[in-house]
Amino acid sequence: MMKPVVDEELCIGCGNCAEICPMVFQLVDEKSKVIDEEACEFADCCEAAAENCPVEAITIEHES
Ligand code: SF4
Repeated sequence: MMKPVVDEELCIGCGNCAEICPMVFQLVDEKSKVIDEEACEFADCCEAAAENCPVEAITIEHES
């Protein structure tokens, strides 16, 4: 299981993640929120979103 986590302290609300992977991330009040954790498992864009976060606020936890 891949579980995306956003560190809201670090997030600057740039919107990259929501643009790259809107089925997983959405911008709410200028902070990224994970709207569908399970979609990360099937969406190729999930890790790309994490890689393209300018402040590295997104981590993908790999759970068994
Ligand atoms: S890419 Fe990073 S900084 Fe930008 S909105 Fe997403 S989590 Fe926040």
